[in-house]
Amino acid sequence: MTLEEIHEEIRKCKRCELYKTKTNYVPGEGNERAKIVFVGEAPGREEDLQGRPFVGAAGQYLTKTLEKYGMRRSEVFITNILKCRPPNNRDPKPEEVEKCFSYLIRQLYEIKPDVIVCLGRHSAREILNFFGKKFRGISADRGKIFEAELDGKKVKIIPTYHPAAVLYKPQLKEYFEEDIRKVASFFKRKTLLDFIGE
Ligand code: URA
Repeated sequence: MTLEEIHEEIRKCKRCELYKTKTNYVPGEGNERAKIVFVGEAPGREEDLQGRPFVGAAGQYLTKTLEKYGMRRSEVFITNILKCRPPNNRDPKPEEVEKCFSYLIRQLYEIKPDVIVCLGRHSAREILNFFGKKFRGISADRGKIFEAELDGKKVKIIPTYHPAAVLYKPQLKEYFEEDIRKVASFFKRKTLLDFIGE
């Protein structure tokens, strides 16, 4: 199955009630062969209107920070735990996460990234739990590298703050950027190894 086929399936999803209140499904976007996948929590207002992830204020800040450290959106893959916006941006409900989560896992199996970056505590908790890792809270775990296995391949999981939290609390910026710089170093190393055919 291709990524686009998974996305077509997402665009027909009625597993939970969120399809009734959403404007557009937001499956995710980027490079099908991405080495790095960024996973947020759920689409917000702007994402819901455009059907694209991380395009509102937080998304623009994320995009700018990726570019600052040498990564373009088209070179990575960006998605969320939930593919539909919860009304008024409320927190995802456990049953919504449970029903939606297999789409993310199928996307990850298809892309086979080297690094999964969890944006924010909801994303970090769900992803670390899935891979059998203990989540101690976003301030404790941000910037740590968790080693896991995805379909027999090693994958690194790096939690960081959510870009919306960074906009809200500018004192988090230095930590967020330090984490994105770390992610960029993996990106550049892998891109170079690909280039020389390793
Ligand atoms: N916040 C998220 O978690 N995801 C988006 O796509 C936008 C804002």
